[in-house]
Amino acid sequence: MGHSHAVSGALVFSAAAPFLPPLVIGRPLQPGEVLVGVLLTAGAALLPDLDHHDGTVAHLFGPITRLLCRTVARLSGGHRHATHSLLFVALAGAGTRAGVARWERGLTDGLAFALLLLAVHALLPHTAGPRAPFRATTVGLAAIGTACVDSWLPGTGAWLPWAVVLGTLTHVLGDCLTRQGAPLLWPYGRRFEIVLINRTGNRFETRFLVPVMTVGTLVLAWLAAFAPTALTGMAALTGMAGLTG
Ligand SMILES: [Zn+2]
Repeated sequence: MGHSHAVSGALVFSAAAPFLPPLVIGRPLQPGEVLVGVLLTAGAALLPDLDHHDGTVAHLFGPITRLLCRTVARLSGGHRHATHSLLFVALAGAGTRAGVARWERGLTDGLAFALLLLAVHALLPHTAGPRAPFRATTVGLAAIGTACVDSWLPGTGAWLPWAVVLGTLTHVLGDCLTRQGAPLLWPYGRRFEIVLINRTGNRFETRFLVPVMTVGTLVLAWLAAFAPTALTGMAALTGMAGLTG
């Protein structure tokens, strides 16, 4: 389900936010970047399902996105093929990085808008209806988010590739927990699956997993934005306890 994928992407970004940026871009994220990063990663966590003609992404703009998804499916070998692999994750990250290096703010703003569209569409399912006012709300919110990125967060391009990697990786690994699994090592065809979630959209997922992940995201994102040292300190203490124990 698109909603669960978006929430899991958001959770993984908020958990990684205090640790990953100092390692990969040499500085911690500002509070605004944490908030936007959570949403961008939620959007990126839908990208692998560009190969699904009847999924959340396909429903975004009706026939236009359905055609896009059908085309991606045809090119990638069908649903849960090439776009559900570690190669896709790596290419999505490397492609974003190369695009940001070449087109800088233009690419950053364009991709941010697309990912925010997906995030809003998936996180607020009532906006996903076919009726135009709901779609206008989705576009409006994504445009406001993009304007914020452009005006106040000039460093977004540096960490955007990592948000794309975290989001797509979370999706692919999440699909491994369901039946059918995912061909992680595509083009090698073997599917990897550890079936924890029997049927996508079942009660365990909607009544337990998604609410728990949502609360986890809110807590971790708040800590990452306003008290990142609490998290890094906690991790250091746990590490030390592990070493001494
Ligand atoms: Zn999928």
